[in-house]
This record gives sequence, structure tokens and C-alpha cells, in this order.
Amino acid sequence: MIKRNPTRAVRVGTVTLGTGHPVAVQSMCATRTQDVDATVGQAEAIRAAGGALVRLAVDSAKDVAALAEVRRQTKANLVVDLQESYRLAAQVAPHVDKVRFLVDVARAHDLALRIGVNCGSVDPELKARFPGDDVAAMVESALEHCRYLDEAGFDRYVVSLKDSHPRKVIEANRRFAQARPDVPLHLGVTEAGIPPEGIVKTRVAFEQLLSRGIGDTLRVSLTLPNPRKHEEVTVGLQILSDVAAGRFRSVPVFDDDRLNIISCPSCSRVENERFVELAEKVKEMTAYAERHALTIAVMGCRVNGPGETDDADLGLWCGPTHVNLKRKTESLGAFGYDEILARLRRELDALIAARSEASAAGR
Ligand code: SF4
Repeated sequence: MIKRNPTRAVRVGTVTLGTGHPVAVQSMCATRTQDVDATVGQAEAIRAAGGALVRLAVDSAKDVAALAEVRRQTKANLVVDLQESYRLAAQVAPHVDKVRFLVDVARAHDLALRIGVNCGSVDPELKARFPGDDVAAMVESALEHCRYLDEAGFDRYVVSLKDSHPRKVIEANRRFAQARPDVPLHLGVTEAGIPPEGIVKTRVAFEQLLSRGIGDTLRVSLTLPNPRKHEEVTVGLQILSDVAAGRFRSVPVFDDDRLNIISCPSCSRVENERFVELAEKVKEMTAYAERHALTIAVMGCRVNGPGETDDADLGLWCGPTHVNLKRKTESLGAFGYDEILARLRRELDALIAARSEASAAGR
């Protein structure tokens, strides 16, 4: 058994999160939500692999209609990800009202809520309050949202604090757990990427947190083709059973001196199915740069792509027919799926050359 922090119980469908209940492993469908057969198939595959919760993206009225049908055809506990629609709601109501609105809807329908904070999309005002400490901004953002829900008298919520770097995930979750030991935590390393590296990054974070009693549910986000999506659950269960048995496999630091490829796990918002293949090709093509401390981000869509690539040295985010290329926050243009690898290589070579020159000049 893993010794756990004393978090409160939060029921989500037939699963209860929190102390006294097993750490629930979850995953997210990468199928188009409107493709009901494919989505039901993937939800069932995740459930069969031991997934306690299955997340679905809902971005339109058509998705909502499909959701009703998916609900009818699967026994999986469904979690709805309203990312885009949530932003639309934000445009029409002040922040606190948006939270109250969500609380009212959750109460009326017997639902739990998740406060999800991603380092890449923390409110810029909050970031400005904690210069140079992204983790403090993330934690404050989560605490602020907890206060809104507490003030609204709603305690059926869990919190997630995610980043693509395990160190930040560990630090954010540790600080939050110290400040709010009562709130159940959903653990995840976002855009962990392709196995085996994606598994290593996730394992590093989860081992450090679970062994301190932190974490009530978890997701391993891996860039995998649809038929292998349920492997996220298999990996999550394996990490849990290893930690419970005291089998720690990872070195508890993540190597910062090497090439770091981050890629999103894909979901129904992917606009071109060549995304997973592209992420794999980027990994292959860039292998020659393995010894350079650079980060390349590969993201599946316009929802998170533009923002979540800002911190990467080179970022790619996929559109329906083109891939957008960035150097940090600067856009370098959009390129066809058949052109992008060659262009990326040119940019990567130029970055490596510039760094070598700078270090030669500094000698
Ligand atoms: S970047 Fe887009 S496609 Fe990838 S997981 Fe996030 S929302 Fe889904």
C-alpha cells in the first residue's frame, strides 16, 4: 500500500478519489468525440486496461450530442474537458461568476470539478507577481481557484498542477499539498511525449510524489497512436504497483543537459492525424542533436499549441494542412507536413551553431 496524505473524499461517477481509496488511473480519448463508435471503443479499451476515469474533449454542440450517445454506450466514468468552451464562457462573464456558474451546474448535475493549472497557460498577471518563479505562480493560481470554490461552498473538487518538466510538477504539487493538504490531487506530466522517454519523465515525477503520500488520481500522458492509447493506463498501474512495492526504477532527477522532446498526448482536437507520426519523425530526425540542451515541443492543435510552445527553443503546432513553426515565441511560418522536417533541421542546426559560437566566444 502507498501511504497517502489525508485528502478529503471526492466522488466522480462510481469512483471516489482521496485518502482511503486507491489512486485512480485515468486516460483521455484521442478519437474525435463525434465519432461515437471510435470513442466508445477507446473508452472501453481504457476501462478494460484498468482506467477508472476516461476524459473526453467537448468543444461544440455536436460534441455534446455525441457525448450523450457515448454515455449511453459505455460504462466508463466519463470526465468532460471543456477547455475551449470554458474560454468562451470567460469572455461573457467575470472570472468569479464563471466559477459560480460552473459550481451551480456541477451541483445541479451531481458532478465533481477539476481545477487544472498548466504552467504554460498561467494567467500572465499572476506570472508577473512571481517573477522567475513559475511554480509559485501555478500554485497561487490553483489556491486562488480553490478559494473561489470554497467561498461558493463547493468542496467536491480536485486540483492538478502540470508541466512538461518533472521537476516543476514535483515542486508545484509538493508546495500545493503543503498549503492545502485536504484537497485531492490529480498528478500528470503534460506533453511527456513518446515512450520510452515520456514514461521516464512521468515516472520520475510520480515516484517522488507518490512516495511522499501525494496524489489521488493520475494520468500518464503519452503520444501514442489510437490503437495503443490504453497503454497510458497500463503504464500508470505499473508505476503505482512499483511504488507500492518500493521498487523505484528512475533516478530522481531528470537530465537537463540533453535534447528534450516534449509532445502532447493528442486528443480529439488533433486537426491532422499525421500528428503522432510527425512527433515520432521529429524524435528520429533530431537524434543527432541528443547532446544539446535544447527543447523541441510538438503539439497537436491550435488550442494549446501556440501557448504551450512558447517556452521551447523550437516549437511545432499542427493545423489541418500545415505545421506552424516557432523559435520560442517568434513565429517562423507555416509549412506543409512534407516540408516541416527539413525546415526544422535547418533551424536546429542554426541554433546549435549559434550556441557553439557563443560558448567559443565566452572561452
Ligand atoms: S495540444 Fe491540442 S491535440 Fe494535443 S492534447 Fe492538447 S488539446 Fe489535445
